[in-house]
Amino acid sequence: MRDLSNENIVHIQDGDIEYLQFRKLLEYKDKVIHCYTTRSDDYKIDNGVNYKKLYNSLNLDYNKLVKIKEQIHSNYVQIVESKEVKPDKVDGLITDKKGISFSLRFADCTPIYLYDPVKNVIGDIHSGWKGTVGKIAQVAVKKMQEEYNSKPEDIICCIGPAIGKCHFEVDEDVKNIFENTFSYMNINDKIIEKGELKEGKQKYFIDTNLINRKMLEEIGLLKENIIESNICTVCNKDILHSYRVDRKNAGRNTAIMSLI
Ligand SMILES: [Zn+2]
Repeated sequence: MRDLSNENIVHIQDGDIEYLQFRKLLEYKDKVIHCYTTRSDDYKIDNGVNYKKLYNSLNLDYNKLVKIKEQIHSNYVQIVESKEVKPDKVDGLITDKKGISFSLRFADCTPIYLYDPVKNVIGDIHSGWKGTVGKIAQVAVKKMQEEYNSKPEDIICCIGPAIGKCHFEVDEDVKNIFENTFSYMNINDKIIEKGELKEGKQKYFIDTNLINRKMLEEIGLLKENIIESNICTVCNKDILHSYRVDRKNAGRNTAIMSLI
C-alpha cells in the first residue's frame, strides 16, 4: 500500500487498521487523540467491529464514542459534555471533557480538527461545501471562545484530507455562491479557477482548503497554527473513500478526536 505520509501527516498501519495523523497534533498526544481513517474500513455502516478495532489501536474506550446521528452539511455546532448526548442534524462537536470521543464521517468533505492546548478544548468539524460557505469553522471557533474562553491565537487547526482544488469541479451556480460569499476577502482569483467548457456548461474549480484557512486567519488563528494535510481524497481514491469517485456507493472515512 502506498504511504500518504508527508511533512504534516503520518500514515499509520497497525495490522489491518490504517489511519492518518497530523504531526502537529501528535505533539500533544498525551492530551488529545485523533485520526482520519482510510479505505481499510468503512464507517458509513457501524457494525461495531470496525470502531472496536480502531479504538483498540488508538487506546480509546469504545463505550465513550459519540457520533452524530445525521450530518446535514450545515454550519451547526454542538457542545457535548457527556457521552449520553446523542447529537443529531449538526456538523460539529466541541468539548472540554476528557474521555468522550467524537467520530465524524467524511467522503470528500473537509474534516477540521480544532485543539486549544491552553484551555484543553477540542472541536471535530465536518465542513462540506455548504458548511464551508456557512463558515462552520468560524462558528466552531466562536463557540470555543464563548463557552470555554479559548483564545483564537492559541487554537491549532488541522485541515484534513478532502477533495482538493484539483478535483472540486462545480457549475456556475455553485461558483457564484462561493464568489458572492467570499468576495469581501479579495481572494476570489485564488479560490476560483476557470475550468473547461463541458457540454456547453462552463466549469470551475474551487479551493475549499484555502477558504477555510483564510476564514480561520480572519478570526485570529495564527498562520503557523493552521496545518493542511495536502491530501486530496480523489487523487488518493485508492486509499481514501471519495463521494466523487464512488457516488452512492461511497464509504466513509472517520475523523476521530478525544481528550484523554
Ligand atoms: Zn485531487
